[in-house]
Amino acid sequence: MRVPLTVGDFLERAALVYPDRVAVVDEPTTPGSFGSMTYGQLHQRARGMAAALDDLGVGPGARVAIVSPNAARFVTAFYGVSGFGRILVPVNFRLNPDEVSYIIEHSGATVLLLDPELDATLSAVQAKHRILLDGVADAELFAPATRDPERWVDPDEEATASINYTSGTTARPKGVQLTHRNLWLNAVTFGWHAGVTDRDVYLHTLPMFHCNGWGMPYAVTSMGVKQVVLRKVDGEDILRRVDEHGVTLLCGAPAVVAAILDAAEQRRARGDEIPGRQRVRMIVAGAPPPSKTIERVETELGWEFIQIYGLTETSPFLTMNRAPAEWDGLPSGERAQLLARAGVPGIGVKMAVDGEGEVLARANHVFAGYWEQPDETAKAIRDGWFHTGDGGFLDGPYVVIADRKKDVIISGGENVSSIEVEDALYQHPAVAEACVIGVPDEKWGETVKALVVLKEGATATEAEIIEFSRGRLAHFKCPTSIEIRDALTRTATGKLQKFKMRAPYWEGRDKAIN
Ligand code: AMP
Repeated sequence: MRVPLTVGDFLERAALVYPDRVAVVDEPTTPGSFGSMTYGQLHQRARGMAAALDDLGVGPGARVAIVSPNAARFVTAFYGVSGFGRILVPVNFRLNPDEVSYIIEHSGATVLLLDPELDATLSAVQAKHRILLDGVADAELFAPATRDPERWVDPDEEATASINYTSGTTARPKGVQLTHRNLWLNAVTFGWHAGVTDRDVYLHTLPMFHCNGWGMPYAVTSMGVKQVVLRKVDGEDILRRVDEHGVTLLCGAPAVVAAILDAAEQRRARGDEIPGRQRVRMIVAGAPPPSKTIERVETELGWEFIQIYGLTETSPFLTMNRAPAEWDGLPSGERAQLLARAGVPGIGVKMAVDGEGEVLARANHVFAGYWEQPDETAKAIRDGWFHTGDGGFLDGPYVVIADRKKDVIISGGENVSSIEVEDALYQHPAVAEACVIGVPDEKWGETVKALVVLKEGATATEAEIIEFSRGRLAHFKCPTSIEIRDALTRTATGKLQKFKMRAPYWEGRDKAIN
């Protein structure tokens, strides 16, 4: 027997087994907050959403974009949209109007769901149905079902469930097509390795738009886990909710860990308790965390530190580093060093490193392709392996990520395409040449730096160029420093030697990424 694996399964199970359990605690400050809802209610809302999409004439395969910070409506959309055969397009809510418009147009989204706080800034972004998530305009869309939605007649696990746009090696973000099968297998594998059970309480610290919250929302839903929404990352707020809701599990980039550690330090200085000792598992990815940070998570917070590695293109789960029993007695520093590696392959994942040091992966959750960019897909998946663009090596079964082959800067867990930033800088009338690199940053891991050569006779200050980039790019992509130079380092044939220009900023470190 072969039953198609579709994301609807996760909520179907929760609604059957745990109908009266609290499913989602919405952010109280969200306009039209859902408050607290059970799995039975979440199921009814997802069905209601599907029925409302039927009424709008939005059929299977249609794209529904959502631009919103974390919210209970986002969780609902994972099922109300993808679960009934439409394709969800989660968009980074920090992008500027141009960037969002590009994604809406490129994906062909006919429905745009928009957080009301973004309405003014994104006023130029249009779609056939532009609906504010304010509890009024979206009242029908999120009302519990009063009738059965049209059935997804021919559920297909190979159908695309979501298109997640990611900045990478091209000037414009690419749409990563994740199928139901990709998301399903990612969620069960990730959830299994993370030991998700029906006793967990999950805090949504990770943006849901980022690779569907790494797929963890699906995994925790199927187990009837209580999910607490966090709209904005704040260290103290996280600690408060860990305490208030008895949180056991959360995910985030190293920058989130840093915010939590800062808040914990302030608590200690005030003589306040740190909640969650011996209870919380914190899953970290997006950049290699320093081993000192790992050690602090385990000793100062008393939380279990788990690292994963993956990409949007891999749904994302590829490897996990979770301390095995053999490390139990080790001194904390040594343990932290072992945990600093990206980890061992998850079940069904194969990892390799090619002759040039590029990390390769093979798994059932590697994406179907870039939306309408078959050439880019062919470059990424070659000879049966997905080329990650990350540089690294194997230490026994452990993958270590030490470098980056692709032109991407990862700042606070979000990807920035250096080519895209260079493109924006070239539009400045005084800029003759630009080279954008990632340099180490205490708070964000890496930050964007631009080396710029001005046109002859032209003048521009560092502040002016930064301001100029802010008019064209999302804030997190803009350079935080500019160096005006006489020339850039090039090969004899004129090719930019980025790695050489980058090297001085990374001197004395064992990794060339952060
Ligand atoms: P994204 O597609 O936005 O999730 O970004 C994926 C990229 O994040 C990878 O290609 C890596 O460069 C980086 N990354 C993710 N997890 C890790 C990790 N554990 N260690 C080092 N880099 C990571």
